[in-house]
Amino acid sequence: MHFRRLKLTGFKSFVEPSELHIEPGLTGVVGPNGCGKSNLLEALRWVMGESSAKSMRGGGMEDVIFAGTSGRPARAFAEVVLQARTHDDEELEVVRRIERGAGSAYRVNGRDVRAKDVALIFADAATGAHSPALVSQGRIAAVVAAKPAERRAMLEDAAGISGLHVRRKDAEQK
Ligand code: ATP
Ligand code: MG
Repeated sequence: MHFRRLKLTGFKSFVEPSELHIEPGLTGVVGPNGCGKSNLLEALRWVMGESSAKSMRGGGMEDVIFAGTSGRPARAFAEVVLQARTHDDEELEVVRRIERGAGSAYRVNGRDVRAKDVALIFADAATGAHSPALVSQGRIAAVVAAKPAERRAMLEDAAGISGLHVRRKDAEQK
């Protein structure tokens, strides 16, 4: 899967609509401390279905919405759009939006879907919200400090088999 474009509106420090074109190959994000590099990575993880507020460095899920500054009012919603090209060379657009007091919702190619559907899209792609390819600051220390069960989950992610759990759970519910 090739990620082509990431659009952010009201997400953390990205208060005005911002668009990032992702070219094939390696992408580097550079800038001074606090400019939003980690926020960009979090936006990517969030649109892919991240459900843990803690791993988004927030207390609650609504903390991803621009909280306001002395000169700028807070926003009522945050939205992230990820456009990608799939293995089958098809266009994929995933939208996640959260509104204060109303929770978050997903759309895939214009249709309303469940969080679980988004998890399934990325489950096998080694590109999911918990993909070993996304290593955030502090993650290495977290691996060292993790309890055995947590470390096992991390290793399963790294081995690319955690998608199997998502599929098994989905199958068990049918
Ligand atoms: P470093 O180089 O130190 O790792 P960074 O480029 O990764 O920095 P980020 O951590 O992405 O920076 O951005 C931090 C900034 O984002 C802070 O200024 C913080 O106030 C701002 N920020 C985070 N969440 C929100 C929010 N909900 N509303 C407004 N600003 C936010
Ligand atoms: Mg950072």
